Amino acid sequence: MLNILRRIVEEVNAAQGLEQVLALIVNRVKANMAVDVCSIYLWDHKSHYILMATDGLHLQSVGSVRLQHNQGLVGLVAGREETVNLHNATENPSYVYFPETGEEQYPSFLGVPIIHKRSVLGVLVVQRHEPRKFDTDQEAFLITVAAQLASVIAHAEAVGDSIVLGNLSLAAGKPIYGLAGAPGVAFGNAVVVYPPADLDAVPDRQITDTQAEQLVFIDAVSSVRDDLQKLTDNLRQVLSAEERALFDAYQLMLGSDALVENTLARIREGNWASGALRKTIEDYVHAFDNVQDAYIKERVEDVRDLGRRILSYLQKSGRSGYQFPKGSILVGDIITATMLAEVSIKNLAGVVSRRGSTTSHVAILARAFNVPAVMGAADMPIARVDGQPLIVDGYQGRVYISPPDAVTQEYRRLRVEEDELSAELANLKELPAQTTDGFSVHLYANTGLIADVSPALSSGAEGVGLYRTEFPFMIRERFPSEDEQTQIYRQVLTAFAPRPVTLRTLDVGGDKALPYFPIEEENPFLGWRGIRITLDHPEIFLVQVRAMLRANAGIGNMRILLPMITTVDEVDTAIRMIRRAHHELLDNGITIEMPEVGVMVEVPAAVYQVASLAKRADFISVGTNDLSQYLLAVDRNNPRVASLYDCLHPSVIRVLMIIVAACKEAGKPVHICGEMAADPYAVLLLLGMGVDSLSVNAASIPRMKYIIRNFSQANAEEILHLSLEYEHGQSIRHFLHSVLVEHGLDGLVHAGRANIEAMKA
Ligand code: PEP
Ligand code: MG
Repeated sequence: MLNILRRIVEEVNAAQGLEQVLALIVNRVKANMAVDVCSIYLWDHKSHYILMATDGLHLQSVGSVRLQHNQGLVGLVAGREETVNLHNATENPSYVYFPETGEEQYPSFLGVPIIHKRSVLGVLVVQRHEPRKFDTDQEAFLITVAAQLASVIAHAEAVGDSIVLGNLSLAAGKPIYGLAGAPGVAFGNAVVVYPPADLDAVPDRQITDTQAEQLVFIDAVSSVRDDLQKLTDNLRQVLSAEERALFDAYQLMLGSDALVENTLARIREGNWASGALRKTIEDYVHAFDNVQDAYIKERVEDVRDLGRRILSYLQKSGRSGYQFPKGSILVGDIITATMLAEVSIKNLAGVVSRRGSTTSHVAILARAFNVPAVMGAADMPIARVDGQPLIVDGYQGRVYISPPDAVTQEYRRLRVEEDELSAELANLKELPAQTTDGFSVHLYANTGLIADVSPALSSGAEGVGLYRTEFPFMIRERFPSEDEQTQIYRQVLTAFAPRPVTLRTLDVGGDKALPYFPIEEENPFLGWRGIRITLDHPEIFLVQVRAMLRANAGIGNMRILLPMITTVDEVDTAIRMIRRAHHELLDNGITIEMPEVGVMVEVPAAVYQVASLAKRADFISVGTNDLSQYLLAVDRNNPRVASLYDCLHPSVIRVLMIIVAACKEAGKPVHICGEMAADPYAVLLLLGMGVDSLSVNAASIPRMKYIIRNFSQANAEEILHLSLEYEHGQSIRHFLHSVLVEHGLDGLVHAGRANIEAMKA
C-alpha cells in the first residue's frame, strides 16, 4: 500500500494543474481500491460542496451536483470532520439522491474529509456496487490520500489555479498562511533561493539568451564527464572491469538524448539550465518509477545523482548566482541568515520561508533590518513562484501571489497608515521611557550586524542590550580572526558610546549553524549550543573574549553576556576565562577595565538557581525566546506547534516573576532581551514586574516607549496581578487587549492589520 501511495504522490506532484490532479486521483484510487466509484467534492468557499471529479459516476454530473454545507452524506462527512463508512448509503437519513449521477447502483459509501490546517476543503468518496462496509485498511488508505490531496489543493488555490467547469470556478488567489515573522508589508517580486545541489528545490526561471544557457549546460555536463573519468581511472586498481561498468553506464547516460537533448530542448523553450535539468530528471524518474524492478530503481537513483552533479557545476558556473534587483522578496524552503546576508539591504523587500518560525534567527534578523517576513509558510509553492509579484504581510503572516488589484490597494492604504503612525512615534525619540509615576525602564536595541546599528541609533535606543556576535560569524567562510572581531566589536561600541553595549559570547548551535563548523545532532536545541560549545573550545572563547576586551580599550561601555547557562560551573569557568584574558592583556600593557559580566536565563533549570547565578554575575538577562521554548516544550522554529508557543502562557509569566523577584532580592539588574519584550501586551506585564530594561529590535522601540509612557508602574502591577487570574494565554491576551483599548492604545496593535476579509465582504 505504501508503494501505491508513494506512486500516486509522485504522479500528483508531476501533474499540471489541479484539474489533472483530481482526475488522476479519482482514477488511481478507484483502480487501487478495486471500487466502482471514486469522486472528489470541493468546497467553493461560499456555500456549496461541488462534485469536481469522478471516475464511476456519470460525467455530466461533474459541476452540477452541489451540496450545501451539512447537506447529504458529503455534508455529513464535512460537518463531522470524520470518516463515514456505510454499507447502504440510501438508508442513512442524510442521503440525498442526484439522478444525474447514476449512483443508485452503488449503495456502499466511504467518505473522508479533505482537511488542511483545520479547515475542510472537500470530501473524497468511494462507492461500491456490493453492499458491504469498507474495511479499516481501505479507510486508512483513503484518509492518507485525502491528507496528501489537501496540501495539493491548498497550493493550487494559493497560486490561483482554479478549475473552471462551465460557469463554476473555485476560489482563487487566496493567501498562503504562515507566521508573522517580521512586521510590515512588502510589495515585490519573488526570488527563490535554495540550498546548493538540491534538485527538487530548483525553481523554473525564464531566460532570454537561450544560446548562452545551452553552452553553460553543455559545459557542466562535460565537467561531470571529466570527473567520472577521473574516478574510473582512480578505481582501476581496486575495481574489476565489471564493477567499473557502472561508471561506463554513467558516461552513457551523460551522453544520452534523454538527459542532454531533453534538457537542451527545454532551455530552447526559455527555461534556465537548472530548471530545465530538474524537469528532465523528474520526467526520467517518473518514466521508470512504475517499474517495480529493483535494478531499474537503482538506475533511477543514479540518474538523480548525475542530475545533482550537473546542478552543482551549474551553480559553480555562476549561472545560478542570484540576481537581487530592487524589491526582491527572498523565498525558499528554509531561508538562512547567510542567504539573507547575501542580498543588498536596499534591494531586499521581504522574506518568505516555508520553514522556521517567529523566533527563528532569520526572523530576528529580518526584524533588525526592518524587512517584513512571513515564516512557516508551508504551502508556499516555491517551484512556481520565482519572479512572480508578491505581497508579504508580515503583521498577520500572509503571502499573496500575483495579488488581485483590490488586495494591492488595501495593502497600499495600510502602508500609508503605518507610515503616519511611525512619523507620530518618531517624535518620542528624545523623550525618556518613563511611566507616568516616574519609573524608568531602559530601552535598548538588539543588534547583530553593522547594518542595524544606524536604525538602532535613530530609534532612540539607550544602548545595545543584546549584540548577537554569532551573526558576524555566520556570514563568513571561517572563524573571524581576533583582529577582525576586535574591529567589528569596536565599531558597535564606538557607535553607541558612552551608551552601554552588551556583547553576547558566541551562541551557535540549535538553529544557528556556522557553514564551516557543522554540528550534526538529533536534537540540536537540546544539544551542543551556546556556552556549551565555547567552553569546550577555549581557543574560540578566549580569542573572542580578548577581541571584546581589546575593542573596549579606551571606550569602556562594554558588557559581556553568557548564553545558554544551565549550571553555576559554566558561569564560574567562563568568568575565570574572561579574567584570564583580561590579565593576559594587562600583562601585554593594554590598559582595560574588567567589564561587567551578565548571565542569560533561558534554560528552565537556571530559573531556580537565579539567586546563585546573580551572586556570580553583574546582571541577569532573560532570553524569553529560548526560555518559552524549553518551558513549553515547543520548538521555536516549528510552525506546526507555533500556536502553542505563547510568551503569555501563565507559566511563562509566573517563571518570569520568579526570576525578577530573585534578582531584586540579590540586588542585581534584570533585563529582558527575547522577542517578548517587543510584544505590546507583554510589555505591560514586564512593566508590572518592575524589570530594569527591555532590549528589542530597533523598529519596536518607539512603540514600546509609547506604551510605557502611557501607564503608571502601579497600574501595570495591578494589571499583572489581574492577569494571573486567567488560566489561558489567549485569555490573558484578550484581557491585555482590553486594557490597551481602555487607554486608547489599541491602534498600536491594530495598525498594520489589512482587513482583506472585510474588504471582500
Ligand atoms: C532568547 O533566547 O530569548 C535570546 C534572546 O537569544 P536568541 O534568540 O539569540 O537565542
Ligand atoms: Mg537564546
